[in-house]
Parts: sequence; structure tokens; C-alpha cells
Amino acid sequence: MKNSDCIFCKIAQGKIPAKKVGESNNFIAVLDANQKIRGHTLIIPKKHFVTLLDIPNKLGEELLKFTKEIASKILETKQGDAFNILMNNLEPAGQVVKHAHIHILPRKEGDSVKIIS
Ligand code: 5GP
Ligand code: ZN
Repeated sequence: MKNSDCIFCKIAQGKIPAKKVGESNNFIAVLDANQKIRGHTLIIPKKHFVTLLDIPNKLGEELLKFTKEIASKILETKQGDAFNILMNNLEPAGQVVKHAHIHILPRKEGDSVKIIS
């Protein structure tokens, strides 16, 4: 697949709409289109990387800082009392969109959500 066909590249470039909830130099945070869990957020690198293994180490600190910032916001705004961080890397692990992304899943006491590990 060409990068020009990548849905998350298009979101990062503002070519298709998404509900942006934050941005850093190299990452954006948008609400997942499928809000099965309310506040489900995706951390997406602005550049096209396929999996975690492709993201340069030099972006690691920014990625961690930005992910923590968005997760903190989820707690502060009471969208969740807790959160899961999940990343599917490659198809057998459930990766559907072939542009690396981290899921942040807000959780509430007794919500009975089952995260498949
Ligand atoms: P994956 O299974 O690849 O880890 O997850 C892809 C996620 O991207 C899914 O949770 C899916 O709902 C979300 N998604 C797919 N297409 C779009 C889109 O066009 N916009 C947004 N905001 N999320 C999307
Ligand atoms: Zn892409």
C-alpha cells in the first residue's frame, strides 16, 4: 500500500476529518472512530511508520511524554478513572491500520471491559 492511500497519514495531514484532542511536534491524538469505549483515543505519528519497531528511538521520549499528557487529560476530565495502553503490531496481533498507533482506553470502576492481551 502506498503511503498516499494511508488513512492515518491523511488524518495527520488534515485531509480527512478526525476529532483531534492533542498534538505535539511529531504526534497527534485523535478520538477513535469507533467509540465502543467512550474517549478511546489513538496516538498517531505524523510520519508514516508501520509498527513500533519503525518509530525512531529519538522520538521515544516525545511519544512517552505525549501519551502521558493525553492519558492524564482523560483522568483529569473524568472520562476515565483509569486507562489501558494497547498497541497492535502487525496483522496477527490485530493491526488493521498499517500506520503505527497507540490506543488509550479510558476505564471506569466495574465497567467489565475485557481487554484481549
Ligand atoms: P488497529 O486494529 O489497527 O490497532 O486499530 C485501528 C483503529 O483505528 C480501530 O480502533 C478503528 O476504529 C480506528 N479507525 C479506523 N479508521 C479510522 C478513521 O478513519 N478515523 C479514526 N479516528 N479512527 C479510525
Ligand atoms: Zn500512514
